[in-house]
Amino acid sequence: MDIFNDVKARVSAKSVAEAYGLKIGRNGMACCPFHNDKHPSMKIDDRHYHCFGCGSHGDAIGYVAQMYGISQYEAAIKINEDFHLGIDSDHKPSKEERISIQKRLANAKKVADIQNRFRKWKLQTIDELLECESLIEESEKAIMNESPHVVFLTNGFVYMMHMKSIIGYWLDILCMGTEDEAKEFFLTDGKEVNRIVANIRLAGDDILGRNRKCAG
Ligand SMILES: [Zn+2]
Repeated sequence: MDIFNDVKARVSAKSVAEAYGLKIGRNGMACCPFHNDKHPSMKIDDRHYHCFGCGSHGDAIGYVAQMYGISQYEAAIKINEDFHLGIDSDHKPSKEERISIQKRLANAKKVADIQNRFRKWKLQTIDELLECESLIEESEKAIMNESPHVVFLTNGFVYMMHMKSIIGYWLDILCMGTEDEAKEFFLTDGKEVNRIVANIRLAGDDILGRNRKCAG
């Protein structure tokens, strides 16, 4: 038997995916790690994984190859080592091959870390921008009763009106845009978002706080 069949005979796709971090539900469904999956769309059993969202498909070795961006052969070697299967492959990897595998694994880990950070940032930013949108909406309602004179003198409100379309635009990118557009936004405007969210919160506190005082 070659190393591919040997590995697959000893470990299931399911146990391999679990060992490398996939959370699989009782029904054999999991959130696909290969696309931005919010609801489990990957079906995984002993022999294969298949994603109904992005079409990713393969066996235990294919899973590891896709996960770490390595070749099928490198993936088979990795599983053999990580699971201590002790399979003697007819071809022992050379020192160079080992170093190359390790480098690529380190890179894959870096990419996965950035990907994780990006996902967390995206969810949090969507929350914050939605909060800003509703703060602006409430402030608009609150300030409608004031005279135009007061409205124009309320710097925070002028600022909010100025930022309203930008916030809407950013939400469009994060909620409806492609993954690449969202990443581009993360890299170029990530810091700007924090600043603007903080300013909107201040302005909102000011307007809504004052309004509450007036009402009470
Ligand atoms: Zn997928």
